[in-house]
Amino acid sequence: MKGEKGILFILSGPSGVGKGTVRKALFEQDPDLAYSISVTTRNPREGEENGVDYFFKTKEEVERMIEEGEFIEYAEYVGNYYGTPKAYVEQTLNKGRDVFLEIEVQGAMQVKENFPEGVFIFLFPPSLEELKNRIISRGTESEDLVKNRLLEAKKEIDMMDAYDYVVVNDQIDQAVKRIEAIVLSEHCKRERIAKQYKKALGSDVL
Ligand code: 5GP
Repeated sequence: MKGEKGILFILSGPSGVGKGTVRKALFEQDPDLAYSISVTTRNPREGEENGVDYFFKTKEEVERMIEEGEFIEYAEYVGNYYGTPKAYVEQTLNKGRDVFLEIEVQGAMQVKENFPEGVFIFLFPPSLEELKNRIISRGTESEDLVKNRLLEAKKEIDMMDAYDYVVVNDQIDQAVKRIEAIVLSEHCKRERIAKQYKKALGSDVL
């Protein structure tokens, strides 16, 4: 709709549930969506690119950004900082494009305070056993880190109640379809449309 602000979607879910894979598949289908690239202090994994997967920064750089209020939210996760730069999200929403954040739950709860109109989607594994296997078989992390990620996954699942939607990631294309359906429904919500047309309805056009 003309002049409409974009909607902020927040995608969370436990480590290993396949958030990154689903998000990439979603963006291939829907190039109009905008992805907010996060800042992190963790080391790049093989194949990850600066400015594509993350903005890889030092601890000092991230701490300066925190002090200057440059993040919508940030969190420490398994020993590293992760944060969402504010400027990109605000500018993109103001241009009318929907923005997706792929972030863990502590950060999502901070977004909820600042953007209560955001839409919170929780990606859920087909089963907890499967989640455990995926975290272990990723094989990019040491044993200690895997243990921490499993603990973190349990804590994250406990936070599911704070989300608006739950999408089970049994098959990537099905999970993408479900998220697309959520995006479409959110654009048809009466409150959003009423807000948009309030002025026109109060005028003498009809
Ligand atoms: P990974 O190291 O596997 O890329 O990410 C670890 C966790 O941090 C994932 O749950 C990922 O969604 C989350 N994450 C990525 N970017 C951000 C961010 O900007 N803020 C927060 N709070 N979490 C993030």
